[in-house]
Amino acid sequence: MKKTDRRSFLQAGLTGLAGLASVPLLGGSLAGCAMTQTSTRQAGSGAATGPKPSLATEKLTERVTLISGVPGNVVALTSSDGVVLVDSGSSALAGGVRKSLAAAKVRTLFNTHYHADQTGGNELFSKAGAEIHAHKITAQWLETDFYVPADDRWVKALPKAAWPTKTFREKGEMKAGDESIEYGYLLEAHTRGDIYVFFRDSNVLAIGDVASPQRDPIIDWYTGGWLGGRVDAMDDVLALVKDDTKIVPCYGPVMTKAQLQAERDIMQKIYDVTTDMTDKGRSAQDMLEAGVLNQVNRKFDDPYRFLYDVCKGHWAHYTNFGGNIV
Ligand SMILES: [Zn+2]
Repeated sequence: MKKTDRRSFLQAGLTGLAGLASVPLLGGSLAGCAMTQTSTRQAGSGAATGPKPSLATEKLTERVTLISGVPGNVVALTSSDGVVLVDSGSSALAGGVRKSLAAAKVRTLFNTHYHADQTGGNELFSKAGAEIHAHKITAQWLETDFYVPADDRWVKALPKAAWPTKTFREKGEMKAGDESIEYGYLLEAHTRGDIYVFFRDSNVLAIGDVASPQRDPIIDWYTGGWLGGRVDAMDDVLALVKDDTKIVPCYGPVMTKAQLQAERDIMQKIYDVTTDMTDKGRSAQDMLEAGVLNQVNRKFDDPYRFLYDVCKGHWAHYTNFGGNIV
């Protein structure tokens, strides 16, 4: 199915949390999802074991600083109107983010999506006076208890102080000092509430977990992410940037346009092969045994988990590419 067809279907089917009802719960092994949900949620609980990640700061431009190791990346723009932050880090490490900003006041905080690694510091910065901007669906996840099938447990909503105060569905723009900031929706790329934040004058674009140059890409299928959405979202990002734009994912190094294009092409290849196999009734295990991931120039830490999540996403969106599987 052509991208345009897929996209028009997706946009017609935008239903927020209600879309969950269409996610087939297949039973059996949910190991892939367990790892996704556990890793994202535990990072925010402060209960993580092992060595504490070390926080590092790097100036990307005169105004924009990358704070990494919290445990992912946080982007900070300094302006005469205060700091604009993209993501707040985990709850355990957000204090370090704040410390790294010295006494500068955070005026605006964007959440690229709902995961705890990106929203764990919401309460801290909100209580210190920040407005929290996020996609409407991200706000819904943060404000609601929800069930994690892989762990057979409920995750509690964040306290009210940590909830987004300004939400949007499509896109918007704002000024912070001399900087023009654009932000917008990236449909179903990783969750169902992913956004980009583009510091236009500084030429730095934060894209959340929509690209993953280092760790295996995570498809949070339970909240609406899927590989087709991921490829489309990368196309949207590629249309925004210039060759020298600094593209910041949640995890891993800053990317160039060419590097993002390369990751996008790998995801497209996997999409083409796995949707075809899904349409023929093949499972993630079948795909693993067929060597699907050996066809692309990328190493995966846990190939089965990635394929499992890809398949779950495909099942939830099967009418977007085929329709023979039920
Ligand atoms: Zn995430």
